[in-house]
Amino acid sequence: MLDAAFFRRWLTRVTAVVEREATALTELDSAIGDADHGSNMRRGFDAASAAVDSEPPDTPGGVLTAVGRQLISKVGGASGPLYGTALRRAGRALGGEPRVSAEQLRDALGAAVDGVRDLGGAAVGDKTMLDALVPAVEAYGAALERGADLAGALDAAAAAARDGAEATIGLRARKGRASYLGERSVGHQDPGATSTSLLVAALADTARE
Ligand code: ADP
Ligand code: MG
Ligand code: MG
Repeated sequence: MLDAAFFRRWLTRVTAVVEREATALTELDSAIGDADHGSNMRRGFDAASAAVDSEPPDTPGGVLTAVGRQLISKVGGASGPLYGTALRRAGRALGGEPRVSAEQLRDALGAAVDGVRDLGGAAVGDKTMLDALVPAVEAYGAALERGADLAGALDAAAAAARDGAEATIGLRARKGRASYLGERSVGHQDPGATSTSLLVAALADTARE
């Protein structure tokens, strides 16, 4: 079972990873966007960490909801409202329980996908964060069905997210700023799919630590 402390450890890890990878994320965004994805992610997760540290929620749902709220209010770019909505929906799906199961996490991840779809209107193949998130959630659910434990299922999710992010290189963007480039967006990895793969990898690493 996963408690609020698990999700706080995830947040600490994500904040550090985003800090480390901010330059690389911004470089990806400079090729097909406006060169701010790394700084957007950094601003959002720094604010989320500070908010959660100053008033620690005592449930998993409370942690995710608090992170989502900060991303929405502190990040101006598309990724803030999209990730913020995803995390708030995931938090709501987990409700007020002090501990949640691997299966409840699967349902929360599904709610996160629905949140991104509802707000952004993108589908898989449009070269967005969904190209990493959807395969990750599917791989996680399939691994649980096969009898994997939490850490094993999250490893499968992390591998699928990484593959999905890499596969965006060959895609033409149909949503977000990169879509303005049309065919010229092909040949570059999507920044948001890349940051999604970092967020999912951090979940797997948290389960292993
Ligand atoms: P902005 O493009 O507003 O500067 P960011 O650079 O922080 O925001 O984030 C860009 C990322 O947001 C893209 O790489 C893409 O993955 C994601 N994104 C943009 N629009 C959408 C959308 N409609 N649906 C899903 N993801 C999107
Ligand atoms: Mg940008
Ligand atoms: Mg921007």
